Amino acid sequence: MSAVASPIILQDRRLSPAQVPPTVVESLDAMERERLVAKIKRLLVEQDATLVAHYYTAPELQELADATGGYVSDSLDMARFGAESKASTLVVAGVRFMGETAKILNPEKRVLMPDLQAECSLDLGCPADEFAAFCDQHPDRTVVVYANTSAAVKARSDWVVTSGIALELISHLAERGDKLIWAPDRHLGAYIQRETGADMLLWGAACVVHEAFKADGLRKLRAEHPDAKVLVHPESPLDVIAQADVVGSTTAIVEAARKLSAKKFIVATDNGLFHKMKQIAPDKEFLEAPVAGKGATCVSCAHCPWMAMNGLRNLARVLETGANEIQIDEAIRARAAVPIRRLLEFAKQRKRVVLGNNDA
Ligand code: SF4
Repeated sequence: MSAVASPIILQDRRLSPAQVPPTVVESLDAMERERLVAKIKRLLVEQDATLVAHYYTAPELQELADATGGYVSDSLDMARFGAESKASTLVVAGVRFMGETAKILNPEKRVLMPDLQAECSLDLGCPADEFAAFCDQHPDRTVVVYANTSAAVKARSDWVVTSGIALELISHLAERGDKLIWAPDRHLGAYIQRETGADMLLWGAACVVHEAFKADGLRKLRAEHPDAKVLVHPESPLDVIAQADVVGSTTAIVEAARKLSAKKFIVATDNGLFHKMKQIAPDKEFLEAPVAGKGATCVSCAHCPWMAMNGLRNLARVLETGANEIQIDEAIRARAAVPIRRLLEFAKQRKRVVLGNNDA
């Protein structure tokens, strides 16, 4: 394949700090926590519901999902579990695109979310109408979008891709001569472009959590802990990725923590993942990769403000009231299912497990 010199990032689509809500973690005393957990367990049974939670949500939610026959994972694996679940209601503790993905793949099920305001800076940075207009200007390009997008953006794409299979898919498309539009994550797109040499126009959004990791601070921390392995999510900047021993999705990071013989890890992803890593490797030490600090330039401080909107209180409320049901126009849902199924077929042909080895 002929390599192009560098990716073309079209326009800065990153959110300003003012557009990012503060990260507010739910605070409960032990008695209220116990009362809510008991209530949610009862309501899950009464409502024939299953709780699926993302790795970045609060430990209480992850434990509740595990304890009630639900599931904790990354977004498409959450959707896969939802499809296999016999429950008629899925409660998705995560961010909105995860609830939408669950609904796209499970249209016959009721999908509820604790808070519909739980968004994602990648999704917010890629409005469907502007993205469609841009794609219309480049009809010769194949449109590849990351899982962290709205149903409407997925519906405008040719492929929906996850970080677990992105390199393989983009290499395949480049080898057959496709020119690409990639959206929405500029950092993941730049990483893939660098690795594959594909001809890619990159949408300019970013994850507020991963973009905050700092290469200089990471260099310093590595010098202080030379025995530590560095695990980095590819939504991080390239100069952070360059220092990684392992670059991978949340699932890949958890697996690396389990499989590698190192006893100490520096981890560049949302610190919500530490709960799962400590569960599967309790004898190992996990250090947070440095962000900008607790001062003015640290927007997220390594914990997603939207993920933090999920809590026991609003989970109990939606189970009780049926509020916050995900609704997607059927034409958009059916169209959005096409590029997801296309990826699954590609993975099947390559004998790759894509669901369960995915994205943020
Ligand atoms: S951590 Fe980043 S990519 Fe994940 S939901 Fe939050 S803003 Fe989006």
